[in-house]
Amino acid sequence: MRDNQMARSEERGGIAIVGAGPVGAIAAMYLAPRFGPVTVLERRADPRRGGGRRGRSITVMLSTRGWRALSELGLDAAVRAICLPIHGRCAHLPDGRSHVSPYSRDWRPIWSVERARLHCLLLDAAEATPGVKILFEQRVREVDPDVPAVEVENGDGSTRMAYSRVLGCDGAHSVVRAALVTRGAQAVVRRLELAHQEIDVPGGWLDPSTMHYWPTGDALFAAFPLPSGNFAGSLFLRHEGPAPSYAVVESGQDLLEMFVSRFGKPAAAIPDLADQLSVKSIGTIMTVSCDRWVWRDKLALLGDACHAMAPFMGHGMNCGFEDVRTLVDRLDSTQNWAAALAAYEKIRIEDAHAISYLSYQHYHHMANPPAESIAHAEELRNRLIALFPDRFVPLYERCAFTEESYAAVLKDDRRLDSLVEDLLSRHGAELVSASNSRLRACVSAAGIASLGEC
Ligand SMILES: Cc1cc2nc3c(=O)[nH]c(=O)nc-3n(C[C@H](O)[C@H](O)[C@H](O)COP(=O)(O)OP(=O)(O)OC[C@H]3O[C@@H](n4cnc5c(N)ncnc54)[C@H](O)[C@@H]3O)c2cc1C
Repeated sequence: MRDNQMARSEERGGIAIVGAGPVGAIAAMYLAPRFGPVTVLERRADPRRGGGRRGRSITVMLSTRGWRALSELGLDAAVRAICLPIHGRCAHLPDGRSHVSPYSRDWRPIWSVERARLHCLLLDAAEATPGVKILFEQRVREVDPDVPAVEVENGDGSTRMAYSRVLGCDGAHSVVRAALVTRGAQAVVRRLELAHQEIDVPGGWLDPSTMHYWPTGDALFAAFPLPSGNFAGSLFLRHEGPAPSYAVVESGQDLLEMFVSRFGKPAAAIPDLADQLSVKSIGTIMTVSCDRWVWRDKLALLGDACHAMAPFMGHGMNCGFEDVRTLVDRLDSTQNWAAALAAYEKIRIEDAHAISYLSYQHYHHMANPPAESIAHAEELRNRLIALFPDRFVPLYERCAFTEESYAAVLKDDRRLDSLVEDLLSRHGAELVSASNSRLRACVSAAGIASLGEC
């Protein structure tokens, strides 16, 4: 920790949470009733009083893992009131066709909510929890994992404060993670090649029960329904590289022409498109992976601080809420912080790697119109899922509507891929349209053992 003559030193005790984002707020609500005072240190101003990031209105999807935490905290009804159910995604293909894929085989919805509204609701609920204190405009500069202690800077200078534990819920640029790196953790922080701009889309011309997306291979536009009846649009383009990257699209006019040529229908429906494209900020997406999440019985990382991921599966925040639940579950069952933190790290790292990988893969799935070369495999996959509903559950459904380990879901999905590849290499593409009985016979000839593992 920096040798700062001006720094005051305080012994606060209790738990410090660095970062009052959605995950920090949820963590505070779980921990204060169990372990006493929790102080949340947030570098930004209070967003409920006009602080925080202005001009960014990201829509996030809540699925089963997120709802579990919200309902355990008694917040499900309040959150549901500001959400919209979304039953699937509708692809608008370049050839003019559209295709709806339900999120689950029985059309269960996931729920869309404006992150800023959800965040404010969570801050209100956290502050109303006895034992929780949220301090805004307190930037944590440095963390000493051994004490543990944090050096906090605010308008009055800097103060070193010791706590019983420090939890890092401080997002992709985590200073708590940086402290773990000084103890040997290896972290990889990457800026995704994709940038995004949030574009307001008027409603009335799109079905509000699904999200909509326009895949073009090198650019993606997506629109999420909002309770107002309008849609929150997101344009995804590469930062660098050949057209149509942001680096090549040199002027607002170029960007507008690119948008109109690729996304004709949305372009026609957004009257102030040119203005929005020229004034809306271009957001970057960071990904984080880290091989250590905890330090002894003193410190742990949760949420984006340890696994910021691409947004295309809609799981970053859901996964962060699940981190908190897993940690608390371990603490409840062992009452021993060192053992609980070690178990938490062991359980979650593999799962976070899996959902981060899937989230990035999902971008390519959504951004590219279905290619002829993989169409047979996709179709066969879908037929196997329909024919063996107890054995094969679609990957998205398992991620969004169960709390199964993401790593197990990924493993099973790879096995299904291998089975499909094996069947196509033995029987050729004609198997895709074969009768159910022939397909069953081919699957059992391919090896009941491999099927049984799926
Ligand atoms: C375009 C987009 C779409 C997304 N869609 C979804 C979705 O559909 N579903 C989903 O589950 N997730 C989604 N996500 C991901 C989700 O937004 C994040 O996973 C979630 O916000 C992470 O919460 P967090 O609290 O861990 O981190 P953050 O939200 O980043 O909060 C961290 C907090 O820590 C504070 N902080 C940072 N450093 C310090 C410091 N040194 N001192 C004090 N405070 C500090 C920050 O100011 C911030 O308030 C999406 C993300 C993007 C970009």
